[in-house]
Amino acid sequence: MTTSLPKMTKKIIIIGSGFSSISAATYLADFGCDVTILEKNSSFGGRARNFKAKGFTFDMGPSWYWMPDVFEKYFNDFDKSVSDYYNLKKLDPAYRVYFGKNDFIEIEDNLEKISKTFENVEKGASKKLIKFMTEAKSNYSVAMEKVVYKPGKSIFELVTPGTIKRLRYFTTNIKSEVSRYFKNNKLRQIMEFPVLFLGAKPENTPAFYNIMNHADLGLGTWFPERGGIHKVVESMISLAKEKGVTFKSNHNVDEILVNDERIKGVISNGIEFHSDIVISGADYHHTETLIPNNLKNYNDSFWDKKVFAPSSLLFYIGLDRKINNLTHHNLFFDVDFNRHASEIYDDPKWPESPLFYLNFPSLSDKSMAPDGCENCFILIPIAPDLEDSEEIRRKYLNLVLKRIEDISGEKIVDNIIYQKSFCVKDFISDYNSYKGNAYGLANTLFQTSIFKPKMKSKRIKGLYFTGQLTVPGPGVPPSLISGKIVSNEIIKDFPNQ
Ligand SMILES: Cc1cc2nc3c(=O)[nH]c(=O)nc-3n(C[C@H](O)[C@H](O)[C@H](O)COP(=O)(O)OP(=O)(O)OC[C@H]3O[C@@H](n4cnc5c(N)ncnc54)[C@H](O)[C@@H]3O)c2cc1C
Repeated sequence: MTTSLPKMTKKIIIIGSGFSSISAATYLADFGCDVTILEKNSSFGGRARNFKAKGFTFDMGPSWYWMPDVFEKYFNDFDKSVSDYYNLKKLDPAYRVYFGKNDFIEIEDNLEKISKTFENVEKGASKKLIKFMTEAKSNYSVAMEKVVYKPGKSIFELVTPGTIKRLRYFTTNIKSEVSRYFKNNKLRQIMEFPVLFLGAKPENTPAFYNIMNHADLGLGTWFPERGGIHKVVESMISLAKEKGVTFKSNHNVDEILVNDERIKGVISNGIEFHSDIVISGADYHHTETLIPNNLKNYNDSFWDKKVFAPSSLLFYIGLDRKINNLTHHNLFFDVDFNRHASEIYDDPKWPESPLFYLNFPSLSDKSMAPDGCENCFILIPIAPDLEDSEEIRRKYLNLVLKRIEDISGEKIVDNIIYQKSFCVKDFISDYNSYKGNAYGLANTLFQTSIFKPKMKSKRIKGLYFTGQLTVPGPGVPPSLISGKIVSNEIIKDFPNQ
């Protein structure tokens, strides 16, 4: 563990079992605390749960394994390595982007090959890509070393020689930065794609987030073999248990107990669990419904004004045949990107003609589908809080399946042997998600770092928040980091205890 402070022996309850919760639990148990995770659902991993049906294993949320350095760092903090738990395969191609029928660009597994692809699309783009990526790599180093692991408590955390030199990247956005380099619309879309993970429109995302281009094209797209993303959850749980963390599923926390503005514990399944500290990895707004109104950090109008990352309409599909014409990760950018973005952020409504993402993990991992079958996951980003009905879900399934068949030539509709959908209503009922958001708060400039909801309760001693709604933000690697930051804060706040 990173700190040299004396060990502490506090009793800690953690609400939820997403990546941030498991990460925080591991650090604090390693530091001597008695840690229990209470998860409302019957399985662990939060938005990264999985489920099995008809011989298929479906990862329910994340599917892109980016920033392998962050996962390695987490395991290294406990003198372990990723390879002690799972094998990582670098995907080649990393992904394919469709712009129309038989019109696609494939992103390969290293920058040299990718720059040749860029050159074929736009003369001179190869050199420009290398220049762009050199800047992105150097921003990534500054972010990882100086910014991302900070608790977002003071503006001074951001003032370092590295960030001052890069001030320009905070005053311009990623869309204008990309358009300074590339003219071709397809290349522009590829370069803007990674910041969509941060939940805001490229024109509202600071150019400093070109760190995501380094994560994408520089570091590559990986896949945890024999189990997909849930393999990471299982590995982290195994390490946390080794450190002594107790995991309890089917334990919805109904109330956080406070006495004299100090944490007393929580109530779950009618039982009082006493603790000195409570950390919530559940959605922030929901957590504050578990404490008295006058002790909240933020009121409803605060949340109402925030830019939320999108929700999603998801489909988990089992096919009774193998796929030949598509790759592991496929993006369908064959429609107007700006129009769909506007239907998410400016004028929230069901999109007329959505961009979507199609994933076949069984192309890389045979264990995820029965022999001769394929496991298929579809994600359509949508605005949070939209009307959600079976009829609407069916309409969009038909719409995207038709597009997949027309564009790729791959027959799917008649080969579906399993199908389940997940949308706004499920995000709310399964995760207590505010307005059914999928990825938490968008990383716009004024929702980054010090502007994020705070990790520490202002009024209740011993109450902390972690996860995608606080620092550093949405995504699996940031959630792992969030767990580490909150545990460091707790260790600092309770010295010698
Ligand atoms: C569809 C989808 C696709 C994504 N794709 C990617 C991707 O490809 N790559 C990537 O890096 N990131 C991706 N993300 C984002 C990433 O999955 C999340 O940022 C991350 O998993 C969030 O982790 P978290 O720790 O904040 O908690 P969460 O995963 O949100 O977990 C919170 C937990 O708290 C529990 N909980 C809530 N209320 C209570 C209560 N009262 N009592 C007990 N438990 C409670 C919930 O059940 C849940 O298990 C995706 C997310 C989604 C939804």
